[in-house]
Amino acid sequence: MRAAILPFLLLGTAASAQTSSTPAPAISVETLKTVTQVLSSDAYEGRAPTTPAEAKTVGYIVERMKAAGLKPGNKGAWTQDVPMVEITATAVQPYVFTGGKTPVSLAYRTEMVAGTYRVVPKVSVANSDVVFVGYGITAPEKGWDDYAGVDVNGKTVVILINDADWQTMSREGPFEGRAMTWYGRWPYKFENAAKHGAAAAIIVHDTEPAAYPWAVVQSSWTGPQLELDEKGDHLDQSQIVGWMQRASAERVFASAGKDYATLAAAAKVKGFKAVPLGLKLSGGFTNTIKRQASKNVIGVLPGTAKPDDYVMYSAHWDHLGRCDPVDGDDICNGAADNATGVAGLIALAEAQAKAGPAKRSIAFLAVTAEESGLLGSRYYAEHPIYPLAHTVGGVNMDVLNTDGRAKDFVLVGAGKSEIEDLVKPFVAAEGRVIGVEANPERGGYYRSDHFSFAKLGVPMLDGGSGEDMVVGGTAAGHAAREDYVAHRYHKPADEYDAKWDWSGVVDDLTIYYGLGRKLADDTSLWPNWYKTAEFRGIRDRDRAGAK
Ligand SMILES: [Zn+2]
Repeated sequence: MRAAILPFLLLGTAASAQTSSTPAPAISVETLKTVTQVLSSDAYEGRAPTTPAEAKTVGYIVERMKAAGLKPGNKGAWTQDVPMVEITATAVQPYVFTGGKTPVSLAYRTEMVAGTYRVVPKVSVANSDVVFVGYGITAPEKGWDDYAGVDVNGKTVVILINDADWQTMSREGPFEGRAMTWYGRWPYKFENAAKHGAAAAIIVHDTEPAAYPWAVVQSSWTGPQLELDEKGDHLDQSQIVGWMQRASAERVFASAGKDYATLAAAAKVKGFKAVPLGLKLSGGFTNTIKRQASKNVIGVLPGTAKPDDYVMYSAHWDHLGRCDPVDGDDICNGAADNATGVAGLIALAEAQAKAGPAKRSIAFLAVTAEESGLLGSRYYAEHPIYPLAHTVGGVNMDVLNTDGRAKDFVLVGAGKSEIEDLVKPFVAAEGRVIGVEANPERGGYYRSDHFSFAKLGVPMLDGGSGEDMVVGGTAAGHAAREDYVAHRYHKPADEYDAKWDWSGVVDDLTIYYGLGRKLADDTSLWPNWYKTAEFRGIRDRDRAGAK
C-alpha cells in the first residue's frame, strides 16, 4: 500500500564493507522483468485475494519458487491458509448531519466513504451525537488523551489524520515531530475509538498529513473489504468506520457554527478538550458477507548448521483487483505495487539457491491481503509457521525502484533496530550513502508487511533507493516519485512498462541478498531493537523463552 520513500538529506558513511568474500550470484534481470510482467498482466486481473485470480497468482509464484530450487515452506505444503471474511457494503446511505444551521448530506464516494469491521448483515447509526476528538489519541506515557473528560459511548467521533505535531519540521515533539507514529495511523484511530465505545468513527481526509489523495481513500474503501475471520465477528468494533473529505468537514463544522481550521489548530495543543458539535449523525448500509480462505505462499532454503533458525524475505502478492475505471480500464494491475516486490522475492530465491544453502534457513514469504490492511502478514505473524523467537530478522519488499540507479539508500523509520547497522556495509560496498527519510510524516514504516513482524518483535528492514538518482540527481528522483504517487499509485495506470530501468532494483536486491546471507551465515547474530524502540520488550521476552 505504501507510497515510495523520499529522502531529502544525505548522510555519508565511511564504513568499510564487511561483505562476504564469495561473490554474490547475479540478480537476474530476466526474472525481474518476466515475473513483474506476468503478474501485472490483465490476465491476472489485478490479483485481488479470494477471486479466481488468486489461484492463478499463487500457482505462478509456487511454480517460480519450485524452479528457483526452494522447498515447500509449510510442512510439505507451499501455502498457508488465511481465513478471511469479505464484507461488501451496499445501499450505502449518505452521512446526514442534522441539528445545525442547515442539514448537511455527504455523498457516497465523492465526499465520504463508510465501512465496518463488524461481520453483520446490516449497520445503522441514527441521530448519534457528534463529538470532535482532535487526533483521537490516548497515549498515557505522553500524558496525552484526546478522550479525557468526554463520554463518546454510542456517539460519533470525528478525528484528524496523522498526529498532533506532524507540521513540525524537526523530529522533536510529543509524537516524534514530523515523523508519523503509530498514533497517527488510521487503524490505530479506529481501534481507539472502538475502545471508547464510539458507534461511528469518521476520519477527516487531508492530502498532506494523510500522504495520499482522496482517490486512494475512495478506491480502497469502496467495493469488497477483507478482514481476518476471527471468533467474535469483531463486534467489539464501532458500527461505522469511515472517512470524509476535508471540504466536507468544513461544511459540517460550519453548520454547527464552528470553524474547522480553528478547532483543528486547537487539537495540536496538549490538553485539548474534545468538542461536542451539537450535531447528530445518521448513516448506514447493508452488508453481503462471504467467508473464504486466501493463501500466503512460502518456500524455504533449508540451512545446514541451524536449520531451525530462519531469515525472512517477504513481499505481498495481492493488489486491488478490479477498481474504478479510468479511460475504460478497470484493472488495477499493481505492476510496481507489488509485482516488482514478488519479482524481487523470486530473484533473491534464485540467487540464494544458486549460492547453496546457508547455515541458517532462508524463508521466502509472499503474503496476501496487504492492501486490505496487512492481513496476510498479520495472520502469519500471529500464526507463525516458524516460531518468531527463531526468526532472526529479514527484509520486506514493497514497490521496487524502477527509475534507475540511486546514489542513496533510505532506511524507513530509521533509529529502530540493529538491522540498520548490519545493512550499512552492504550499502557502502556499492559506493552508496544512507539517506534520511524525507517524509517520515507519511508513516511508511507502519504501512507495509514488515510492520506485522515488527509489532510482534521480529526486526525487519524497510529500506531502498532514495531519490538522489545517478542520472538527474534529486530533481529527477523527486519528480519520478511524485509522478508515481499522483498518477499511478493504486490506479489502473500502475502497469508494466518496457522502458523501466532495472539497474536500481538490482542494486537494492544485491544489498538485500548480502544482508540476508550475512544473517543466515553468521549464527551468532540476533539483531534486536534499540532500547528506545516500541518493540524491544516483546522481542526480549520472546527470545528469553526460546531454547
Ligand atoms: Zn504495496
